[in-house]
Amino acid sequence: MEEFEHQMQFVFALRSRGVTNAAVLNAMEKLQRRDFVEGIFQDRSFEDTPLPISCGQTISQPTVVGLMTQALELNNRCKVLEIGTGSGYQAAILSRLARRVYTVERHRRLARQSRERLTTLHLHNITVVHGDGSLGLPEQAPFDRIIVTAAAEDPPRVLLDQLRTGGIMILPVGQSQAVQTLVKIVKTETGLDYTDLGSVRFVPLVEGVAHDVLD
Ligand code: SAH
Repeated sequence: MEEFEHQMQFVFALRSRGVTNAAVLNAMEKLQRRDFVEGIFQDRSFEDTPLPISCGQTISQPTVVGLMTQALELNNRCKVLEIGTGSGYQAAILSRLARRVYTVERHRRLARQSRERLTTLHLHNITVVHGDGSLGLPEQAPFDRIIVTAAAEDPPRVLLDQLRTGGIMILPVGQSQAVQTLVKIVKTETGLDYTDLGSVRFVPLVEGVAHDVLD
């Protein structure tokens, strides 16, 4: 019963904060956020808040995940690039709505953990790459969609160059300590169209791979 109530609370939060797309809601209902966090945080996985994961990082707030996914306007022909794999939760949702997902993470430990989770969940259309996502993934470019789940001070030019014409990129823009703005960029024949989707708070996009003591 408690589980059912938690699920109701989870979906209610998504809907009440503007996640209305049926396919996105369906993908988020089918995946358990609990499977992407560890220890004591599993009992809080239904709450609409970010939660700590390994390497001092966070799994994003579910409503923000929903709004970003919805803004990507995915279909089953899309090849998607995510920067900032973290727990793998966002990548798992993308994988249910797109044809192919590539996700890049700078912490080796997070890349390994999320790769294991996604394999266990039989989500086989995702490739987790350990590397510096601020460089994108040139060998797989161009992408139909790009989602950055860490905040950059400006939309990285390198990533925009790897976006197909007609493609959409979603990312938080702003300084790490300040309030950031979620921005949607559509690449057209003639330039870039920007839409402000509201305020968010993300960990910063950091250049280079991490050199953790334990990974
Ligand atoms: N999308 C994740 C949450 C992202 S937290 C999820 O669903 O759980 C942001 C992640 O971006 C962190 O794991 C951080 O290590 C990673 N990150 C920051 N800068 C990066 C970079 N340059 N390349 C790849 N990953 C980066």
